[in-house]
Amino acid sequence: MPELPEVETIRRQLAPQLEGRTIVEIEILDPRWTRPGAPGSVQDELRGARVDRVGRAGKYLIWALSGERYLLVHLRMTGALLFDPASEPSHTRVRFALDDGHRVVYIDPRRFGTGHLVHGSAARDAYLAQRIGIEPLTPEFTVEHLRRLARGRRAPIKAFVLDQRRIAGVGNIYADEALFRAGIHPLRAAGSLTRAQWQRLRDAIEESLLAGIEAKGATIDDFRHVDGARGSFQDRFLVHRRAGEACPKCGTMIRKIVVGGRGTYVCERCQSKPRQRRAGP
Ligand SMILES: [Zn+2]
Repeated sequence: MPELPEVETIRRQLAPQLEGRTIVEIEILDPRWTRPGAPGSVQDELRGARVDRVGRAGKYLIWALSGERYLLVHLRMTGALLFDPASEPSHTRVRFALDDGHRVVYIDPRRFGTGHLVHGSAARDAYLAQRIGIEPLTPEFTVEHLRRLARGRRAPIKAFVLDQRRIAGVGNIYADEALFRAGIHPLRAAGSLTRAQWQRLRDAIEESLLAGIEAKGATIDDFRHVDGARGSFQDRFLVHRRAGEACPKCGTMIRKIVVGGRGTYVCERCQSKPRQRRAGP
């Protein structure tokens, strides 16, 4: 599933192609994409709209359109936006034609991706506020903010980091990489981290995300750049998907465990296991 670095990669590739262009034609082939909005009315609104800016919040791509309208695109599991594909790709769900003759095609084999049209920045902000929390790589992403969110939480720190309503954009890959960089076991209770550990984790989340963006994202399954190319961050993983290999810091064998139902990769020497809590009195 594309995470923040993958979506940011798409944004950086798409923005120069889309900004200032007008959508002259759009065909929404899959009504699930706009649900609960009707595809016909979204098509009518987007036809003739100018794309002023392509932004991002968490894993959402935000197309700011003329007339104070915003198209909020989420790729979910397998969505991809292709710019000028040579032939009609399989699993095409939406086709956009631009006024300069170029085309953008949204493909999505598993069809979980969405395109939601909202009117006005207040509606945009309300939509996002219900779904995503603080944005890493911004000044708001502070140790104080994270500690406040985690106070009293007994959920494993990995589950806490994955919760999009708390921290936006971090998924399974970058959570594993950040916890390893910070030397924190994924099963530690979120509320039990010390201030120093939060500082390390905050910094490690940023470092992992920036490394992912630098490598233009990770392609494990379906993630593709707008020209169909693959990301390269999967070749630079420190622990994620490296079970049985040597830890890059200490040489101990990396293990795969399950945290909150997600495959999780850990060096249990660098990330010491939380002590078992004794049964209550
Ligand atoms: Zn290690």
